[in-house]
Amino acid sequence: MSEEKTIFQKIIDKEIPSTTHYEDDLCIVIEDINPKAPIHLLIIPKKPIPKLSDASEEDVSILGHLMFIVGEMSRKFETEDSFNIVINNGASAGQTVFHLHLHLLAGRDFSDLFPA
Ligand code: AMP
Repeated sequence: MSEEKTIFQKIIDKEIPSTTHYEDDLCIVIEDINPKAPIHLLIIPKKPIPKLSDASEEDVSILGHLMFIVGEMSRKFETEDSFNIVINNGASAGQTVFHLHLHLLAGRDFSDLFPA
């Protein structure tokens, strides 16, 4: 792990506050501090995997768990029929925090990103 803790590691370690909607042994779900949609959650594994492309085979169960929690959160926020998931991988793809996280975005139309 790098010398300096990421902002998400500090949140996981309860060193800085967050609006937390869910937590278990493997992950935490918080509200994004700068929301890009009416519902903008971050699903963050407790294991500090810097980015998705750094995940190894031993992380498969964690990755699956994160996807399951996406579904759980979509039901909790009553948006199970309409949401988008974004994972920015790498600085040039817009990643700013190098601790893997899934953005769950809902309440806004993102269909123009992938026009039919
Ligand atoms: P990314 O650009 O994919 O690395 O996303 C990082 C996200 O973390 C951004 O959407 C930020 O708004 C969000 N963020 C940064 N600091 C905090 C914080 N202290 N609490 C909640 N979200 C944060």
